[in-house]
Amino acid sequence: MTRIIDIINESRQPVFSFEILPPLKGNSIYKVYDIIERLREFEPQFVNITSHHSEYIYKPLPDGTHRRVSVVKRPGTVAIAAAIQNKYGLIPVPHIICRGFSKEETEYALLDLNFLGINNLLVLRGDNKSSGSLAESAHLYHEHASDLQEQINLFNQGIGLDDTKIEGIDTPFSYGMACYPEKHEEAPNMDSDTYYLKEKIKNGADYLITQMFFDNSRYFSFVERCRAEGITVPILPGIKPISRKAHLSGLPRTFRIDIPEPLAAQVRRAADDREVREIGVEWCRQQCRELIAGGAPGIHFYTMSVADSVARVARDIF
Ligand code: FAD
Repeated sequence: MTRIIDIINESRQPVFSFEILPPLKGNSIYKVYDIIERLREFEPQFVNITSHHSEYIYKPLPDGTHRRVSVVKRPGTVAIAAAIQNKYGLIPVPHIICRGFSKEETEYALLDLNFLGINNLLVLRGDNKSSGSLAESAHLYHEHASDLQEQINLFNQGIGLDDTKIEGIDTPFSYGMACYPEKHEEAPNMDSDTYYLKEKIKNGADYLITQMFFDNSRYFSFVERCRAEGITVPILPGIKPISRKAHLSGLPRTFRIDIPEPLAAQVRRAADDREVREIGVEWCRQQCRELIAGGAPGIHFYTMSVADSVARVARDIF
């Protein structure tokens, strides 16, 4: 099995990878294949597949009341990882999250992945729209990515939940974790965020992928901070070409990141989203060139289900 960390360390060129989202429940997997077909020519070294927890929605009933039901809007992470591996021979990196998945469900997912020969993961907590109260169910659910990491580390040693013996782990999982050049939204300060990041590395994360950012100076100073703190693993920049006017407020709101004023001003002046896409591609190209010139080990693209802009940038960079 090829480990992502070996790919990053052994690649003579900057690594090209991207993230896809499973289709919305009920939609065809061909939407995912379309993105891969579009980006395959740039020889991605690996493809990440996001994971999504259940959310409560309120379904109207005939009597005018509502019933609360738990729905996973984008199911299928493990199956899509397997499909990508089989259909394209690409290395899939399924995301595995704690929010909305019990420790037991996680164990089943790890067993499935092990049986499928998928051994690279990105280990995360998951976003905060979880269904259910963590405090009430702490025995069932992990709170932090580091708790999930501990479960995976034990699984790698053949130790399952309740000390069940897990046999047949010829290839242990290797994994990356997330980091935030502009600080995680809940961290009281950068020092605290860096402290927990160091713990993740100490406990076995091979590499890090950043939250998206649009100002490279944030990445470079973050990497400098990490290095000063003794974090030596590769830090892959996560990059997204802006493509819609709505991103100007939507991306900062969702991802708690800044959009630098020179980019924001251009997007504001754009006549329509077609023009925004041109601006986004050009900004992204410049960002990628500067990141690679500045020593970034590669670029990890957030496609967010749209591949065209990423393909245009990749054509120039890879
Ligand atoms: P954590 O590491 O748990 O950190 C969350 C906060 O808690 C931080 O403030 C941190 O400083 C602090 N902290 C960390 N460990 C501890 C500890 N042991 N004790 C106390 N505090 C601690 N979300 C999804 O739902 N699905 C996805 O597929 C997905 N993919 C992502 C991919 C990337 C590359 C990135 C950057 C994010 C992704 N996210 C995804 C979003 C992510 O799950 C959220 O940003 C989430 O809020 C935090 O995840 P984390 O793994 O960094 O959490």
